Amino acid sequence: MTAAAVRVRHPVGPSPATERFLASADLPTPYLVLDPQVVADRYGQLRAALPAAEVHYAVKACPHPEVLRTLVALGCGFDVASPGEVELVIAAGADPDRICYGNPVRGPGDVAAAHAAGVRRFVTDSAEDVRLLAARAPGARVLVRLLVSDAGSATPFAAKFGVLRDEAVRLVGAVADAGLVPEGIAFHSGSQQVRPEAFADGLAAARDVAEDAGLPRPVLDVGGGFPVAYRDPVPDLAAYAAAIRAAAAGADLMLEPGRALVAEAGLIRSTVLRASRRPGVDHRRWVFLDVGRYSGLAETENEAIAYRLRVPGRTGPDEPVVLAGPTCDGDDVLYRRTPCPLPLSLEAGDAVDLLAAGAYTASYASVGFNGIAPLPVHVV
Ligand SMILES: *Cc1c(COP(=O)(O)O)cnc(C)c1O
Repeated sequence: MTAAAVRVRHPVGPSPATERFLASADLPTPYLVLDPQVVADRYGQLRAALPAAEVHYAVKACPHPEVLRTLVALGCGFDVASPGEVELVIAAGADPDRICYGNPVRGPGDVAAAHAAGVRRFVTDSAEDVRLLAARAPGARVLVRLLVSDAGSATPFAAKFGVLRDEAVRLVGAVADAGLVPEGIAFHSGSQQVRPEAFADGLAAARDVAEDAGLPRPVLDVGGGFPVAYRDPVPDLAAYAAAIRAAAAGADLMLEPGRALVAEAGLIRSTVLRASRRPGVDHRRWVFLDVGRYSGLAETENEAIAYRLRVPGRTGPDEPVVLAGPTCDGDDVLYRRTPCPLPLSLEAGDAVDLLAAGAYTASYASVGFNGIAPLPVHVV
């Protein structure tokens, strides 16, 4: 086996501090436990792999104030999607100069609010938005988002954002004509992107646009997408760093990791509400948890993300089950196809943990569908 072939990251267990919290906590479930030290460790690993890159954490992955404060203290920047996220990161101590407003979908009030808060860097993908920025954020630095392939992504953007090559070149010109500062090119090859080459391909395409648009030393923003080892190993950060370094020479690099910094910092503890045989309906047992699609497990839609499960109080032989959430919505089934072997002895009242659940969970919980409260978060 070659050295490159073993550059993978394997699934990791909960942090020691998380285990201590679980052992002593007697709290109502479900809840998310967050360990900010794990976020700090992952940030350190990313910085070590790509020391020259400017890192902007994608706030939406986990906007908890403790996570934001931890990253502010380490000198991290932020990628935000709304004035609400601008406020959150500034309240956590971030310098507005280290904020990039990456969501190109926004209204005049959003741009004006961000500008008033001191945000001076924006990503755009339309002539309409460039006019809006010129009117409401004069003098801003602007990156143009290029549409790239998201093959290899578990949760792709499906072409919602970005423009094709020639339009990207035109938009760079439009940014300059509008009196704004054209800084470079941004892209995002889809979240949970398991192909490091996707970053190299995106960078090659972005450089090509920057050259054609006459940007001498562009900022190239590779977005996020760095994957998490949920159940299976994924290429590790070193593999991504190697692909990115080789393709980014002569440019100023920007990264916007979300998932990769926070997923392993979180664990969801839930409780089994019922474990039922369903004669004639399904040969498998159905296990209903007190956490589901609408209380934090949004990424189980289409079974895109398969969390690793752990049953702390049970041993013995397993059987495959269907795992479902608590609400009366038919879509609130977490895994039908994804294998979920759980102990035969599992019954109502047992704890079930979902590992590496710090990203895209608590912030996705509904405010009260079926009267179920948003997922509480406890920081260790
Ligand atoms: C969501 C998002 C990210 C973070 O993506 P991850 O896959 O979680 O790393 C980065 N940049 C932008 C513009 C995003 O929308």
